[in-house]
Amino acid sequence: MIPYKHEPFTDFSKEENQTAYKKAINKVEKGLGGHYPLVIGGERISTEEKIVSFNPADKQEVIGSVSKADQRLAEKAMQAASDAFGTWKKVSPDIRADVLFKAAAIVRRRRHEFSALLTKEAGKPWREADIDTAEAIDFMEYYARQMLELKNGAPVLSRPGEFNRYSYIPLGVGIVISPWNFPFAIMAGTTVASIVTGNTVLLKPASTTPIVAARFVEVLEEAGLPPGVVNFVPGSGAEVGDYLVDHPKTRFITFTGSRDVGLRIFERSSKISEGQIWMKRLIAEMGGKDTIVVDKEADLDLAAESIVQSAFGFAGQKCSACSRAVIVEDVYDEVLEKAIALTKELTVGNPVDNHFVGPVIDQAAYDKVMSYVKIGEEEGRIVTGGTGDDTAGYFIQPTIVEGVAPDARLMQEEIFGPVVAFSKATDFDEAINIANNTDYGLTGAVITTNRFNMEKAREEFHVGNLYFNRGCTGAIVGYQPFGGFNMSGTDSKAGGPDYLQLHMQAKTTSEML
Ligand code: GLU
Repeated sequence: MIPYKHEPFTDFSKEENQTAYKKAINKVEKGLGGHYPLVIGGERISTEEKIVSFNPADKQEVIGSVSKADQRLAEKAMQAASDAFGTWKKVSPDIRADVLFKAAAIVRRRRHEFSALLTKEAGKPWREADIDTAEAIDFMEYYARQMLELKNGAPVLSRPGEFNRYSYIPLGVGIVISPWNFPFAIMAGTTVASIVTGNTVLLKPASTTPIVAARFVEVLEEAGLPPGVVNFVPGSGAEVGDYLVDHPKTRFITFTGSRDVGLRIFERSSKISEGQIWMKRLIAEMGGKDTIVVDKEADLDLAAESIVQSAFGFAGQKCSACSRAVIVEDVYDEVLEKAIALTKELTVGNPVDNHFVGPVIDQAAYDKVMSYVKIGEEEGRIVTGGTGDDTAGYFIQPTIVEGVAPDARLMQEEIFGPVVAFSKATDFDEAINIANNTDYGLTGAVITTNRFNMEKAREEFHVGNLYFNRGCTGAIVGYQPFGGFNMSGTDSKAGGPDYLQLHMQAKTTSEML
């Protein structure tokens, strides 16, 4: 087997790649408006009620629609997943892995088409869309190989006269609740991690980006996944999400999304429903309030570049996004100036035309981010950006707010948009303290040439993903396993060596010889 290596990104400086991408956008545009039914036990079920997906850059444009599950259909899907579990759990891990390899190959062949769909449905600029698709492929390639490594369990000792084994067995039916910001990568990653380990799932994608999920379910079918292993049930969180989280047959939940929803799931899933004979397992990846710390001994161009890229890539809609820049006072003005200059170079517009900053996802996001811009006017000084325009799509100018106090709302609350707060620290130690002054603990970066300070940060900067001399977004599957501490989630690491085990339980057998 070829060892795992992450999928290279497309080089869009090459004209042939630009042409290919434009062609893919064209193809996607021609296929817009389709309807995708629920998939339950392999059966396609259309409902009266629909979820319509719109283009956030052009809000009149319909990407497509999906059927909307209600509790009755969610129950039907739960039955289908429970039935399928009885057989899928017995399918050998090699065959389960093969489905992932095949699905990865299908997506690789249609790579630009998937990315172009992300450009239209999620408002992702080309590069961001390309990264999302590449990561989806990576998850499949990585988890498939990892399952092959885990299929014989882990080594344990045996004394003379006995034979002990330690094996991993699946859990049961899982609920996958996936986000709109990595609508392909995280949706596919959490789904395939669940099924390659022998579980069956109900996939409830984010209501703003359900089409890419529907297309991925088709890919899994094409790759030979048997009916009932993945059941496609878009629906409302309050109706279907809660119902499934509460369901006595739900064995685990894998969720990526906001802190509020994550905590709601945490609480509800801890209650035992009538007839339930286990404690549900929850894998949650929630928010972030991520900081780039700049030391006084540092490459200041790199610092500004890292802040701007991490704050405004995909319009700041990543839980890994830099939303706080904490800079030692000696170099504060210089870094701020450089960051303003770089930000002013960024273009905002329809991602179809490959602007660096596309729209935010919907009206609610637009309103929320703009309300933080207002708060920013009070808590600091807006030095660039500060305006938005939601007439055609949900566009917000990349915004830097400087002179923000560490306890200000802008420094504490997750904004999930193109807004970054700058805060001054007297020295490096204080900068780390400010960075740690948050409920979250997802990503962070330190820009420094001082080895002593770097080591100090390695020990004291409490985040799941800490980067040195680079930005704080863009973790790669298998290279920088991703996930955070505290209110950022359940400390799991997607794309890491111990992620699949979260979807299984270990069984010890001991035989007397
Ligand atoms: N894994 C992504 C990154 O490293 C972020 C994922 C997210 O925003 O949910 O940038």
